[in-house]
Amino acid sequence: MYLPEGEGFGGGAIALPAAARPRRLGRAYLRHGIARAAELDLVVDLGQRIGSRDWWRGLATCTALCAVAVSFAPRFHALPGGVAAPLAPAQADQMRAQAITPQAFGADTGRRMAATPLVERLADTPERPQIQVTATLGSGDGFARVLQRNGVSEDQARAVAAAVARVVPLSDIKSGTKLDMTLGRRPNKRVARPLDSLAFRAKFELALEIERDGDAFRVKRVPIAVDDTPLRLVGRVGSSLLAAARAAGAPASAIQSYLRAIGQHLSVGSLRSTDRFDMVVAHRRAATGETETGGLLYAGVEQGKRTLRLLKWTQGGREQFFDAAGVGETRGTMKMPVSGHMTSKFGMRFHPVLGYGRMHKGIDYGAPMGSPIVAATAGTVNFAGWHGGHGNYVQIRHAGGLGTGYAHMSRIKVKSGQTVSAGQVIGYVGSTGISTGPHLHFEVFKNNVAVNPASVKFVEAAKLVGAELSRFKATLARLTSVRIANGS
Ligand SMILES: [Zn+2]
Repeated sequence: MYLPEGEGFGGGAIALPAAARPRRLGRAYLRHGIARAAELDLVVDLGQRIGSRDWWRGLATCTALCAVAVSFAPRFHALPGGVAAPLAPAQADQMRAQAITPQAFGADTGRRMAATPLVERLADTPERPQIQVTATLGSGDGFARVLQRNGVSEDQARAVAAAVARVVPLSDIKSGTKLDMTLGRRPNKRVARPLDSLAFRAKFELALEIERDGDAFRVKRVPIAVDDTPLRLVGRVGSSLLAAARAAGAPASAIQSYLRAIGQHLSVGSLRSTDRFDMVVAHRRAATGETETGGLLYAGVEQGKRTLRLLKWTQGGREQFFDAAGVGETRGTMKMPVSGHMTSKFGMRFHPVLGYGRMHKGIDYGAPMGSPIVAATAGTVNFAGWHGGHGNYVQIRHAGGLGTGYAHMSRIKVKSGQTVSAGQVIGYVGSTGISTGPHLHFEVFKNNVAVNPASVKFVEAAKLVGAELSRFKATLARLTSVRIANGS
C-alpha cells in the first residue's frame, strides 16, 4: 500500500479506493523500470549483491577514486639538521675538564696531573688542634658513656662525671641534654684527645661549665634566672571546652586534670557555650628563653552567677583539688571485703541449709578457703568470736552509724575493741556456722539495722581547717590574681 515518493502520485503513501488500485499500480511499475535504465547508480553499496555487475563496477569506481586521492598525497622528506663538529682529542680533554661525569659512569671529573718527582710524600697528615663536638644524652644513657662515645678517654670521662655528680645528681640531668665538648690536642694519634672544656644545661635553672685544669676538672655553676609565674588561661567554653582550652594554650595533660577536677562538682556535659573556664597552669620561663609548662594548679568555672573555684593542695601526702571553702574530693572508701564473686544477693531467698524461704541479710561472696578478708573501711571491732549460725564472726563499727559484719570465717585475726584501717586483714574465708561451703557472708548495718550493702556508700571528703585553711585561702587568692596570659 505504500509507494516510494516521487513516483507520480504526488504525495507518497496514499490509500486508494479498491476499484482504482490494479490499473494505476501497473502503470507505476512500468515507469519505475524506465527510470532505472535511464540513470546509472553511481553510489553502489559494496556490502550488498556482492559479485554482481553493479558491484564490480562500484569496486572499480572506489579503487579509481582511492588511486586518485593517493596520487595527490604530498611527498615529505627529512630536513637536514646541524651536525656537531668533531672534537680533536685535546679539545675533548679540555671539555671533559669542565664537565661532571655521573657517578654511574665512574664520576670522572676534570683533568688530572700525575705527581712529578718534585712532589714529596707526607709522613703524617696534620690534625686540627681542637675539635668541637656536641653530644646528646640519650634516655637511659650514662653521662660518662656519652663522653667516651664521643672520644673522651675512659679515665677522663669518669673524672668529669664524678666532678659533675658533686654539683648535680647525674640522674637529674634530663635525657636530650646537649653536651658541648671541646677536645684538645693529643700527643699522637693512638691516644684519645683530652677533654678541654664541657658545657651543658644540667637543670632548667642551672648550666655547668667544666674546664680542665691539668689533670683535674673545675666545675663552674652558671645559674639561669627563671620566672616561675604560673600561666593563667581564661576563655569561653564555646562549642568545645577541649578545643577552647587548647586554643588558649593549655597543655593536654592540664586539660585532662581540669576536666577530672571540675567533674567532681558538676557534670562536664552541662557546661554551656557561654560559661567561662579559668585555669592556672604551672609555668617556668628561663632567662635564656626556654619555657616549661607543668601541671594544673587551679581550676575555675563561671556559670553565670555560679562560680566553682578549685585549688590543688596536698594534704596528708595526697594531692587533690579542694574547693574555695577548703573541702576536698569525695571518694568512696569501701573496699571489697574479699576478692571473690558475689554468689547470693541481699533479700528474700530459699535457704540452702535450713530448707525454707527467709530473708538474706547480707551478700555472699564465694572465695577459696583461707582467702584473706579485709575491713571494708576503717572502724573499731565491735565483736569477734563465735556467733551461732554466723560461725566465726567479726563485726566492725564505723563512723556515721554504720557497721559491717563478716561471717563463716575459718580464722579470726582481730580482737574486740581493736581499731582497724580500711583494707586491714581481719580474718580468713571459711565455712563455719550454718554454711554449705567456703564463702564470706558480708553484712552492713545502718543504726544497727541490716541494710543492703550495695545501697550504702562509704564516702568521705578531706577538709582543710585552721592554719592550713588560711594558707590555702591565701594561695587561692594569689593564683586567681595572676595576670591572664591569653588576653581574653
Ligand atoms: Zn549469707
